[in-house]
Amino acid sequence: MHIDIQQASVSRIKEIPDGDLGFGRIFSDHMFSMDWSGDTWIEPRIHPYGPIEIIPSALALHYGQSVFEGLKAYRGPTDDRIRLFRPHSNAQRLKASCERLCIPCVSPDIFLEAIRELVSIDCAWVPHGPDCSLYIRPLLFGSEGTLAVRAASTYRFLIITAPVQEYFNRQGQGIYLKAEHRFTRASPGGTGGAKTAGNYAATLQPMSDSAGAGFDQILWLDGVEHRYVEEAGQMNIFFHLGDTIVTPDLSGTILPGITRDTALTILREWGYKIEERRISMDEVITASKTGNLREAFGAGTAAVVVPIDRIHYLGQDLQLPQAGNHSLCQQLYQAITELQFGVTQDNHGWSVLVD
Ligand SMILES: *Cc1c(COP(=O)(O)O)cnc(C)c1O
Repeated sequence: MHIDIQQASVSRIKEIPDGDLGFGRIFSDHMFSMDWSGDTWIEPRIHPYGPIEIIPSALALHYGQSVFEGLKAYRGPTDDRIRLFRPHSNAQRLKASCERLCIPCVSPDIFLEAIRELVSIDCAWVPHGPDCSLYIRPLLFGSEGTLAVRAASTYRFLIITAPVQEYFNRQGQGIYLKAEHRFTRASPGGTGGAKTAGNYAATLQPMSDSAGAGFDQILWLDGVEHRYVEEAGQMNIFFHLGDTIVTPDLSGTILPGITRDTALTILREWGYKIEERRISMDEVITASKTGNLREAFGAGTAAVVVPIDRIHYLGQDLQLPQAGNHSLCQQLYQAITELQFGVTQDNHGWSVLVD
C-alpha cells in the first residue's frame, strides 16, 4: 500500500497539558484516511488532524452504520521503544464487527500498516509515564448520501490518536457499579458482540442517570431476564469465587474484549480454574454472603483492570471485599501493563514494535 503523506505545517504538541491528560480530549497532529469506492479501498493518506467533510445524508449519521476499534501504543520506560499490544486481535475484531453491519472489511495487513505509519509519524505524541499511552481509535462508517435503509455503497476509514491517561485514575480504589435492571445494552440476536456506535448510543441515557446518582459505571444485565451479569460499563467483568475465576461467556451479547482474553490467558498460566459461563446476580450475592466471593474486577483497554468496590442492585448495596495490593486484580494489572510497556519478556507474540 502506498500511503500519501501530507505533513502538518506546525505541530500542536505544545498543547498537551502538563497535568491530567484525560481521555480523548486532545488529538495528535495527524490522522489516517481512506475510502471505499464500491469495490476497493482507495487513496490511503495521512494528513493533519482536523474537520472532515461529510454529506448530510451520509448513511452512518442516520442509521448508525459505523464500527470502531480501540487500542494503544505504549512507550517503554527502559528502552524508549514504542509498542502496540495485540493489534492483530483488533484487526480480527474489526472484521467481525464489519460483517455484522454489512461493512466492507479492512484487511489486517492494511489495518496494521496504517496504524504503524501513523504512530511512527506522531511518535512524539506517545507520552512518557507509567499510566499514559497513545490511544488509537480506528473508525469505519457508511459515507454514502442516501436515506434508503440499506448498506452504503461508499465508506470512510479513519484512524485518529490521542495521548491519554488511564481511564479510572483513582489510585487503585475500586469502582461503584449500578446493576441496571430496566435498561439493557444488548439482547440475543442483536449487535452486542460488535463494536458499533449504536451499542453506545443506547447506553447514554442510563449512564447519564447513573452518573447523576453517584455511580461510576453501569453493571449491564442480560436483556431477557435482567438476572445475568454481562459487562461493567465498557469493560468485561470477572468474579473470583473460591479458587475459580468466572466471567460471562461470549454468547453474542458481550463484546469479546482483548483485555478479557489477555487476562484469561494469564490466569490460566497462573493455574487458576476458569469458567466462562452465565453468572446471575443471585449467585454473586450468595457467594458474597458465604464468603466465597473474593473479588471482582472489570477489564478493558482504556482502564486495563479495575477493582469493583460495590454493586448497587435492587435498592441494596453489595460491598465487595477490599482489593488490596496483593489482590488478583492488582497482580493482573502489573502483569498486563509490564507486557504492554515492554518491561517483561513477551512470550505470546502480543507486542508489535513501531519503528
Ligand atoms: C471495547 C469494549 C470492551 C473492551 O474490549 P478491549 O478489547 O479489552 O478494550 C468491552 N466492552 C465493550 C462494550 C466494548 O466496546
